[in-house]
Amino acid sequence: MTQVQPVPDTLSLPCPQCNHKLRESLARLRLNREVSCTHCGNAFTVTEAQLEAFLRMREQLGR
Ligand SMILES: [Zn+2]
Repeated sequence: MTQVQPVPDTLSLPCPQCNHKLRESLARLRLNREVSCTHCGNAFTVTEAQLEAFLRMREQLGR
């Protein structure tokens, strides 16, 4: 059996306020880019650029 490297579908996002790392699934962020920090309660929006960078990284891993 060949071990295939798993392609991540969860983004690790640092909260802009407290820097706490949040994990959000790609499927959810495609529908709604608003995230609330579980640590300080700050709500922020993931930028299109952040999502695109993640998608590009996934493509490279999937190859
Ligand atoms: Zn926070």
